[in-house]
Amino acid sequence: MGSTRVAVLGGGITGLTVHRRLIENGAESTLYEAQAVPGGLARSRITRGYVFDQCGGHIFNSRSQAVLDWVFRLLPRESWTFQPRLAKILLEGTLVDYPLELSLHQLDVDTQVECLVDLASRQGGADAADLEEWFIRSFGETLARLYLIPYNSKVWRFPLARMEHQWVSDKMPQPSLGEIFRALVTRSSRESKMPHSTFYYPTAGGSQALVDAIAGGLPGIRTSNAVMSLRRHGVQWTVNDQESYETVISTVPLKELFRALVDVPGEVARAVGDLRYNSITSTLVEHDLGPSISWIYLPGPETVCNKVSNVGRFSPRSCPDGSPTSMLVDTIGRHDAGSVRDDVRKLFPIGDVIDHHVTEYAYVVFDLDHRRNVGVVLEYLGRLGIPCVGRFAEWQYYNMDVCIGRALEAADAVLAR
Ligand SMILES: Cc1cc2nc3c(=O)[nH]c(=O)nc-3n(C[C@H](O)[C@H](O)[C@H](O)COP(=O)(O)OP(=O)(O)OC[C@H]3O[C@@H](n4cnc5c(N)ncnc54)[C@H](O)[C@@H]3O)c2cc1C
Repeated sequence: MGSTRVAVLGGGITGLTVHRRLIENGAESTLYEAQAVPGGLARSRITRGYVFDQCGGHIFNSRSQAVLDWVFRLLPRESWTFQPRLAKILLEGTLVDYPLELSLHQLDVDTQVECLVDLASRQGGADAADLEEWFIRSFGETLARLYLIPYNSKVWRFPLARMEHQWVSDKMPQPSLGEIFRALVTRSSRESKMPHSTFYYPTAGGSQALVDAIAGGLPGIRTSNAVMSLRRHGVQWTVNDQESYETVISTVPLKELFRALVDVPGEVARAVGDLRYNSITSTLVEHDLGPSISWIYLPGPETVCNKVSNVGRFSPRSCPDGSPTSMLVDTIGRHDAGSVRDDVRKLFPIGDVIDHHVTEYAYVVFDLDHRRNVGVVLEYLGRLGIPCVGRFAEWQYYNMDVCIGRALEAADAVLAR
């Protein structure tokens, strides 16, 4: 690709992957990361010997062999702990296996019958007008009202009847009626189609181990270097009024990118302003959920927190020797450590709070204008010639593996020019 100079904006998993791919293929790439430590949403830190994935517990797996090969080349398979997902749902005081459609035998008989009658006549969600209707049409009224609607209302904090559903279908298991009947007859809830039905977790260091493996040894990573201005001068882009590049690839949240751009048309600025997202509070506490649980979804109204993860058992090295094991509490929104502790104690007799972190950009909210707004914004950036790749750079619900796959493609497209 000649001597093109590339600026990669953002040093999360996506930006680091783009940067590594470019450098390994002989390109001249400089990465700008606002924070002092790269990693973005995949950052972890060690507190009192405990691993703390500060933006939520990050497990890894992928449907893409290319992504698996790329990741395991950098952080070999032996450096990961591999395990089955043993997820539960706390339903009115009882732990039921996830996914609920395959665990009907764990519900009372009347509810089982209601669910089966619904499921036998379900219409399929393809034509649903919104997310609430999609849940009801895909899973039936009973399952939707019992779990899907209350849980998702807690996570999205936005009316489900004003959210689109097209993004959700590959995020959830959707067993056939045959699979549901088989699970009922065999009393087995095992689900193995979803990418995270088994998962890898770095044995040491949490998700930061993956970040460090991708970043390791690469030149041109400028941390504590937020991109504050991005200006076009002829065929080049000038970053922070200092250095110029022929190519810019953005992996930073769209709202942050637009802070750096000037002369943005009103319609585009409005679309950026209307993009919705949720923040999350992650709180690591002393508590042991036992060996047979990976995490628990909490749909009930008794707590604000929506999920607790058994992160202390994700790896034998997640907690200091001889100490109580750890549990990570997810609470949508911004909360202080004390209020999370009091909230989660309504359900679990937890010990001390170990660490606590609030993440600004955590979940994209797929309101009914999401597709239109993202389309307007990305079309404009396409005209400017700035490819955007990553979770909040594309304003999508991407996990790390999808981000890595898209980052490799974006880097290859630049290399092919
Ligand atoms: C609660 C939660 C749990 C999750 N769990 C999982 C999981 O278990 N498994 C999984 O695979 N995925 C999980 N994910 C998704 C995963 O975190 C993301 O897919 C991935 O980390 C996104 O990487 P990214 O590089 O696209 O974005 P980010 O990580 O957001 O990176 C963007 C980077 O840009 C930087 N930046 C922002 N503004 C500027 C600026 N002006 N100049 C320079 N830099 C800037 C930021 O500091 C950040 O480092 C989870 C996400 C959340 C929120």
